[in-house]
Amino acid sequence: ETLDKGLEKSKASFFSKLTKAVAGKSKVDVEVLDNLEEILISSDVGVNTTLKIITRIEKRVSEDKYLGTDELNQILREEISGLLSETNLGEATEFVIPINVKPYVLMVVGVNGVGKTTTIGKLAYQFKKQGYKVVLGAADTFRAAAIDQLQVWADRVGVPLVKQQMGSDPASVAFDTLQSAVSQNADIVIIDTAGRLHNKVNLMNELTKVKRVMQKVVADSPHDVLLVLDGSTGQNAFEQAKQFTAATEVTSLAVTKLDGTAKGGVVIGISDQFQIPVKYIGVGEGIEDLQVFNKYEFVDSFFK
Ligand code: GDP
Repeated sequence: ETLDKGLEKSKASFFSKLTKAVAGKSKVDVEVLDNLEEILISSDVGVNTTLKIITRIEKRVSEDKYLGTDELNQILREEISGLLSETNLGEATEFVIPINVKPYVLMVVGVNGVGKTTTIGKLAYQFKKQGYKVVLGAADTFRAAAIDQLQVWADRVGVPLVKQQMGSDPASVAFDTLQSAVSQNADIVIIDTAGRLHNKVNLMNELTKVKRVMQKVVADSPHDVLLVLDGSTGQNAFEQAKQFTAATEVTSLAVTKLDGTAKGGVVIGISDQFQIPVKYIGVGEGIEDLQVFNKYEFVDSFFK
């Protein structure tokens, strides 16, 4: 039910539009499809993914022509879920820490303001609650405020933060963090990196260097790279996903601020387009407001 709460705005908008689009209709005609297309695009599902969904529905309804509103809802729900399960790489779950990996290293990337620090704090809280020993690293060294904010979260959660001064070399901070984690026998390291989208080559070089230096301490690190995107920014989120996936191997996504937007459909589009599982969604500013993304629940919640 927290999921529903966090997504109230998206739901209200999507469902009321959908209800209008199919009100009194017993047939999926061109008008219904046009309306549906508009609803999906205005929910920020993205053009490519919207067209895929429309095509699936067109194919499906030519077989069973006459439908009530409920059945139409049902078909939409099934086709959107179907698209996500076919195109996504398996079932997204929370990060699972392999028993034989210690420390497990999670590198977090994303531009400033998307909710990267908050997401790291929420994740650290979840891991700690599960009994893991967590160490954070402030390798986003470009803004002093970013380091301070991460310190606030580290204190709130009660985990150590390794940091240097603003402007120091991100790779050096990452190195220190891993060394500190190893010496403390920590289970999980979360490294905050790359808040700037300078240019593509710089971004790639910076992330590559951070990785290379980390691997001097923990050979196969990072074990995961989490890209944080702000779900309320629509096409900007798509653009950032494009740039970061080109610069480094992103293994999972977190989409934040879905509580403040009517555009929750962005999760469907991003997941489809980039073939990277959305693992977490942010649905508020509080420490508990990070949820494991379940695509079936998510799609279902839009039709309730
Ligand atoms: P960063 O610059 O990417 O590290 O962003 P921050 O973590 O500092 O977050 C920027 C702002 O977004 C802060 O005011 C956060 O409280 C807020 N924020 C982060 N995640 C969420 C979320 O899921 N929902 C809401 N409503 N606000 C969020």
